[in-house]
Amino acid sequence: MFPKDNEYDLVIVGAGLSGLCAAVAAQEKNLHTLVIEKGRSLGGDGNYVEGAMGVDSYLQKQENINIDPVELLQDELQYSHYEASAPHLKKYIDDSGNTIDWLHQLGVKFAKVGKQGKSWPTIHTFEGGGHAAIKVLLSHLQENNLVEIVTSLSAQKLLKNNGHISGLIVMDEATGEEREIKANNIILATGGYVDNPALVKRHINFTSRLMSVSDGKSTGDGMQLAWQVGADQYRMGAIQYGGGAIYDKTRPPFVYMASQLAVAATQEAILWVNERGERFVNEDVNDNMCHAGDAILTQARVFSILDQSTIDHLANVGLYKEIGNSPVSPDKLDNLKDEISGYLKQHVKFLTQADSVNELATKLNLPELKDTIEHYNDLVQKGQDTDFGKAKEYLTPLEQGPYYAVELGVGMACALGGLKVDNQNQVLNSHGYPVPGLFAIGNDAAGMLVGDTYAVTLPGSTAGYAAFSGRNAVKSIN
Ligand SMILES: Cc1cc2nc3c(=O)[nH]c(=O)nc-3n(C[C@H](O)[C@H](O)[C@H](O)COP(=O)(O)OP(=O)(O)OC[C@H]3O[C@@H](n4cnc5c(N)ncnc54)[C@H](O)[C@@H]3O)c2cc1C
Repeated sequence: MFPKDNEYDLVIVGAGLSGLCAAVAAQEKNLHTLVIEKGRSLGGDGNYVEGAMGVDSYLQKQENINIDPVELLQDELQYSHYEASAPHLKKYIDDSGNTIDWLHQLGVKFAKVGKQGKSWPTIHTFEGGGHAAIKVLLSHLQENNLVEIVTSLSAQKLLKNNGHISGLIVMDEATGEEREIKANNIILATGGYVDNPALVKRHINFTSRLMSVSDGKSTGDGMQLAWQVGADQYRMGAIQYGGGAIYDKTRPPFVYMASQLAVAATQEAILWVNERGERFVNEDVNDNMCHAGDAILTQARVFSILDQSTIDHLANVGLYKEIGNSPVSPDKLDNLKDEISGYLKQHVKFLTQADSVNELATKLNLPELKDTIEHYNDLVQKGQDTDFGKAKEYLTPLEQGPYYAVELGVGMACALGGLKVDNQNQVLNSHGYPVPGLFAIGNDAAGMLVGDTYAVTLPGSTAGYAAFSGRNAVKSIN
């Protein structure tokens, strides 16, 4: 289906979290707006987000959470090795609380605000998840009918006239038919490139153990369209790793998102070993899921080792450590034993059980495993991890069979970078000047916030940025 009109003040490409926030902002300004979405459903990966970043929001004021924005900015710039744009990050941080308040006033409900692992207390958790927030945005747009939304319609090519954006070619995904739409302003909100294996491969140390947990539609369309009209190809390669994830090539990774075995093997990790059965890192690296992803990818294979007493403890007594805003129950992994027996019955490749350490080592061909576990238990007994410095309270012995090994890969939620924008979210060319009429928001522009590693230290930062940048771009469009 094609849009009703042939000309609009503004076309927004992508109806995910950033595109829909931009659409509501455009409606507030009475702009004649078209939103096109290549999928059949709306909301993109916005449907799956847990929470959004904000500083000085109504909720933080209620909870007496005070954050010094300048200290936060300094911290994040250092984390990014000064590869993030200081002015852009500053504008985002300074407006982020206001953005949360705007969403709240629209009717988006937040369950809580706080930290995720070792982080700033910035993540505002959506009540009902991102899907509930998307529903609120859509209900605003449907109420007034000022903004037209067309699904199964993708952007194919951007058009320019005398150097200024003049429209785009769109394609009906069902029929392949194309049409030209005129517009002097186009916002790219296509969700980044995590689902484009060629781009991911070109920009990071790719292995088959990397698994996208996105909806499959973030194929880097926005940046590729923009590059064709002169946009700079800017800073790619920062991936929002979801940390360790169950490595199963036979099912889509989201199947394990609420898995208690995944929590036990990744966020409650006791011992991680590599393809030789050697320990290679302080497992508490999982306090920062992107650093955990980085560490796992330094090895050819990674197994999380558990024994029966750790399983019993997690199932019956409770967790060893807090697990941030994970959707899994924060008290006990009371479904863990059922999950394990279910997987063993299915003979899944990622889970191996053995009565002894020797048997586990033989089954998985991990020659150093026995020595590693003996040495690890020794460190536990001494109460000091003189190898990698794991906190004493998380040093837990592995002594009681049966023993379990869960093979880990790394989940990828989104890929940031590809386009450079100014403080109005206008797309810049390689000389640092705007491509007139072209804007990028959400993941398509979020490379401005990071260095080589996504900043989990500022949790909720891509969702918060999706909302902030959507509004920010619309402010300068008339
Ligand atoms: C499982 C999961 C959990 C996450 N949790 C969080 C979280 O808790 N906090 C956080 O900050 N971030 C989280 N993220 C990151 C998330 O990607 C962003 O926060 C948010 O969705 C970014 O919004 P966006 O608009 O850029 O992308 P999206 O919301 O994905 O929207 C992009 C839209 O553009 C459409 N599109 C693509 N190409 C075209 C085209 N050519 N034409 C038309 N339409 C097109 C897509 O179909 C999609 O609907 C999570 C991601 C995943 C996958």
